[in-house]
Amino acid sequence: MRLAEAAAREDMHRATISALKQLLAQNPDLADQYEQTKKIIRIFRRPAFYETSTRCNLRCEGCYYFDTEHPKTLSEEQDLGVWDAFFAAEAKRGVSMAYFLGAEPSLEKERLKVAARHIPHGNIGTNGSVFIPHEIPFKISISMWGSDDAMDRRMRGASVFHKALENYAEDPRAIVLYTVNAWNFEQCEAAVLLCRDAGIPITFNLFSPTKSLLHKLTDAAPNDNQFFRVSRPNANPCIGDEDLIRIRDTLSGLLDAYPETVVYSHNYNRWSTSPGPLHNIDEQSGIALNCHSRIVEPMRYYTTSLASVDAKCCSEEVDCRHCRMHSGGWSSKLNLTLKDLCSRSSFCDWMEMVTVLSRIFVY
Ligand code: SF4
Ligand code: SF4
Repeated sequence: MRLAEAAAREDMHRATISALKQLLAQNPDLADQYEQTKKIIRIFRRPAFYETSTRCNLRCEGCYYFDTEHPKTLSEEQDLGVWDAFFAAEAKRGVSMAYFLGAEPSLEKERLKVAARHIPHGNIGTNGSVFIPHEIPFKISISMWGSDDAMDRRMRGASVFHKALENYAEDPRAIVLYTVNAWNFEQCEAAVLLCRDAGIPITFNLFSPTKSLLHKLTDAAPNDNQFFRVSRPNANPCIGDEDLIRIRDTLSGLLDAYPETVVYSHNYNRWSTSPGPLHNIDEQSGIALNCHSRIVEPMRYYTTSLASVDAKCCSEEVDCRHCRMHSGGWSSKLNLTLKDLCSRSSFCDWMEMVTVLSRIFVY
């Protein structure tokens, strides 16, 4: 499968280069903007994902890390010297962009510090409840799942967003990543206002269920006190087709109303709220074939034992058919496609998305 995928990618790459040359020849005034776009793309030329912690202080509904049908073996390298040598080797391998993932990376700050000694660009996904010191010069994506205490408790088991906003107020590294779901999109504007007042930009992610969450809903499984606390088959945070247009309109309105605070793109918003699936799904495996978040060499995914694993993507547990994750969505926009090259305007739209992407992911 992977060989066939690689061959298809190669053919597509050749066709894309040829279409790009033709479009730039016809529109020479776009050459400078395209050069800027290429510089952004170069930052992502060799990304890698690192699980930096096996612990978390929250219990988010359908957690991307813990809500799994295949219990993880949570082994961890404890020796900081080994982490240091590991990141030095990763830098030597040419890693240009590091994503630091869960469980909750801020609980292992020393590991982040050693990574910062070696890797030029980084992005830390955190719930924001524990401050990450300024000496770690990476983008900090603070997840937010509601803008009032009741919603935060319902979705995450505790209310943390006040603390997160306080921790990162006016911090130039920070951006809030508001995960929109069927229950909380009416709270998006309140979230934007909270972020504006804290001097933190905000962007959006669309809730994407894990396979485990979907199976529990199908089986009408009993709720527990972990990652399936509040969802029921007929009332859950999963985004249905009927929610998409309302979410699209909400986010579009916020982008227009609060351009100094909201970092988002009308083009991306339209795409990510199209009826799904968003990616080309392989019928047999159920895996997205054209998602740019797929772990394909030289991209690698490491667990906390510092072993490189054969993961599908950075969100192994999420079902590709239902995936609207910002990680898979935005990284796929790094990939110029023939569709982006079908006209001057579609090419400009693509360059606009890459520019917004850099504001979301790069410090
Ligand atoms: S913050 Fe929530 S989604 Fe992230 S690891 Fe913790 S429980 Fe899971
Ligand atoms: S990011 Fe989403 S669509 Fe892409 S491989 Fe992962 S789960 Fe599938």
